[in-house]
Amino acid sequence: MRGKLVVGNWKMNGGLVANAALLGEISTGFTRTDGRELAVCVPYPYLMQAQAALSSTGVAWGAQDVSEHAAGAFTGEVSAGMLVEFGCRYAIVGHSERRQYFCDSDAVVAAKAATALATGIIPIVCVGETLGERDAGATEAVVLRQLGAVLETVGEDASRMVVAYEPVWAIGTGRTATPTEAQAVHATLRARLAKSGAAEVPLLYGGSVKADNARALFEMADIDGGLIGGASLKSTEFLAIARA
Ligand code: PEP
Repeated sequence: MRGKLVVGNWKMNGGLVANAALLGEISTGFTRTDGRELAVCVPYPYLMQAQAALSSTGVAWGAQDVSEHAAGAFTGEVSAGMLVEFGCRYAIVGHSERRQYFCDSDAVVAAKAATALATGIIPIVCVGETLGERDAGATEAVVLRQLGAVLETVGEDASRMVVAYEPVWAIGTGRTATPTEAQAVHATLRARLAKSGAAEVPLLYGGSVKADNARALFEMADIDGGLIGGASLKSTEFLAIARA
């Protein structure tokens, strides 16, 4: 049976003092059990703080991006090897904010996922359509194109990744896909993953998930948990989502 996973994406938020409180509250409020995992993806400068605070707890940590390059003259980039040194289990790749503001193409996202996998980091590969694409009836085509680019690049390693469906129109907007809308896309993604021998990959939903809508989403057949933005910055809300 597939496990359940909830991941917090702090985005560009935090500070040493506030992080210490948040990490402490999350780690004391969550007990890891078989098949149920909680993680936070923090800004790069806070990886060492997350490592120190979470190492002996049941909460995992990771980064919000990773370079497709291993080392060299790539100013501002952070390699998968560096993330390993800070104990990262996960790296988000292809978040819609990276695609939109930093021009991460399907090919770049695929290369980042491949580099992460080759280095022992689990990529959380984000896919999702804009509102315009949904209104044009292009949701399936968009998410299959985004996922297909990764699957064609990573080959057999696909079974070791995590995929997050995040409709762009639901991120940070307070507007969530209904459980039925989300499940329909997840079923499409699951079928595509199955064709690549990766049917058991955890499929997360992300986009304005809150304590009061998490359970209905997570009960759907192909939704294995959530990628949580804003609500991951409040321990009570994040822990309530984890319990859901
Ligand atoms: C995200 O950033 O991945 C996200 C889902 O954000 P929010 O939960 O705030 O919509």
